[in-house]
Amino acid sequence: MDQPLQVPPGRDVRLSDFDPDFHEGLDRAEAEAETRRHCDKLDELAYRLFAEARRAVVVVLQGIDTSGKDGTIRMLASGISPQCLDVKSFKAPSALELSHDFLWRVHAAIPAHGRIGIFNRSHYEDVVVVRVRKLVPKEVWKERYTQINAFEKLLHDGGITFVKCFLHISNSEQRQRLEDRLRDPKKQWKLGPDDLEDRKRWDDFQKAYDDALTQCNTDHAPWHIVPADKKWYRNLVVARLVRQALERLDPKFPPFDSSLITKLD
Ligand code: AMP
Ligand code: MG
Repeated sequence: MDQPLQVPPGRDVRLSDFDPDFHEGLDRAEAEAETRRHCDKLDELAYRLFAEARRAVVVVLQGIDTSGKDGTIRMLASGISPQCLDVKSFKAPSALELSHDFLWRVHAAIPAHGRIGIFNRSHYEDVVVVRVRKLVPKEVWKERYTQINAFEKLLHDGGITFVKCFLHISNSEQRQRLEDRLRDPKKQWKLGPDDLEDRKRWDDFQKAYDDALTQCNTDHAPWHIVPADKKWYRNLVVARLVRQALERLDPKFPPFDSSLITKLD
């Protein structure tokens, strides 16, 4: 029983081929215990990345409303010192942001060397929601796939590692979560009319994501399709992916100037 997290670059991604409820046959307690182990390790790796201060990591979280972006951030942040972390949420662009190219605000939010950035939504909104809500003409958003790939390559070559996670939930799970939000006074604030409107365009969003995940799935910044109907499994997968990315980077403490030892009076 297995389900890949990635599609080889160049192949078509079809979200309908991926089970949002996949969980490796694990139960909740097992998954939570493993997630905690990854978070402990993340703290140590993030500390080394911070000390090294030569490279940075960007975790991109995309997914339709209620897919669990906020909860995933809470989980990651529980494992990493705030000193090493930049969390950025991308909302509908302001007038100032709209008066620049679509990547301007994204580039400004890329973390400095040594840090881990978490993007709650990202430049992928500019090829997904913008397309579905017809905010720019097709000729404009179609060109953006190439522009995004070039942008991510530029950053990759400058020492940025992308961990791109699409949080994949089912239509019925979204309905359940929206209903919970409608009924729970502590969650109602999260709901806007746009969310219910967007749900009516479920198929358009899935198609826009299929295309974005196909067109912008590169060797230098691949996409991961994270089964997210079970929150505890989603957390486990993202924690594991971020840990693996940091382990591959294997950040090193900078060299120590041993002459300092003789200077302590
Ligand atoms: P939330 O994540 O629920 O706070 O909502 C943020 C909203 O901003 C979502 O409806 C996004 O689709 C929207 N949004 C984010 N980026 C863009 C963008 N570039 N253009 C238009 N809408 C956007
Ligand atoms: Mg929302």
